[in-house]
Amino acid sequence: MALTPLIAYAHVVKSFGNGHDAGRVMAVDDVSLDIAAGEFVAIVGASGSGKSTLLRLANRLLDADSGRVVVEGADVRDVDPVGLRRRMGYVFQSGGLFPHLCVADNIAITPRLLGWTAAEIAARVDELLDLVRLDRSLHRDRLPHELSGGQQQRVGVARALAARPRIMLMDEPFGALDPLTRDILGEDYRALHRRLALTTVMVTHDTTAALLLADRIAVMRAGQLVALGRPAELSNNTDPCVAELLRTPRRQAERLNALLPGESTG
Ligand code: ADP
Ligand code: MG
Repeated sequence: MALTPLIAYAHVVKSFGNGHDAGRVMAVDDVSLDIAAGEFVAIVGASGSGKSTLLRLANRLLDADSGRVVVEGADVRDVDPVGLRRRMGYVFQSGGLFPHLCVADNIAITPRLLGWTAAEIAARVDELLDLVRLDRSLHRDRLPHELSGGQQQRVGVARALAARPRIMLMDEPFGALDPLTRDILGEDYRALHRRLALTTVMVTHDTTAALLLADRIAVMRAGQLVALGRPAELSNNTDPCVAELLRTPRRQAERLNALLPGESTG
């Protein structure tokens, strides 16, 4: 890659457990991956394949056993983890909103920690509600339990964007939602990614969504990165695990084509 990557994993290893060999799980096993500024990369793979671990190594919720993770040119071990996390938005499946705080206060958490003035915070909250397409007056003062699952995830995205990060890390952000809501939020997020010139790494078990949303897809199996490429490149990959992942979207596409024949042929 010609440009300096915004996020670079080089031979990264992360294991869990006690002892030295037998009892240890190699959650991430010698993964190297470069992500360019502005890219949208999806990480797919079976449950337990190391997707979440890989993501958490970027914002230092976890530290690697060996290898290097470089973010915006600096080895993450050399930077303050709190500052690092403020530069990288993080959204995960359960939303993680504070149940006793209203929408505006949830979104304002990081700006408050950064010492923004009340006026700056109020203006930013309004701007963010517009960005994630939630009606300001209707949603500002609501508590999380008064929102639908999709609306809660919109607030989660707004909160992650509050301090204007360049990078968004998302761990199955829309995984708990019904398929229609998931689809709409995925499309809305893709538009935000482009509009705000973000760099996004999104873990998902939904291969169809990954194919439709991401520029490149990284396939994990048992801690290893087994494939990486654009959808058409994955389609040419002969690895059985990649073929297996593409089977469901291919079958869905075939069935839908049969049910909804194209207009041009009719
Ligand atoms: P994925 O997100 O693909 O489902 P994870 O990255 O969560 O996979 O987990 C990869 C492997 O590491 C799994 O075997 C999991 O059980 C193990 N693992 C993840 N986090 C921990 C932890 N904090 N302690 C012990 N084992 C863990
Ligand atoms: Mg996970």
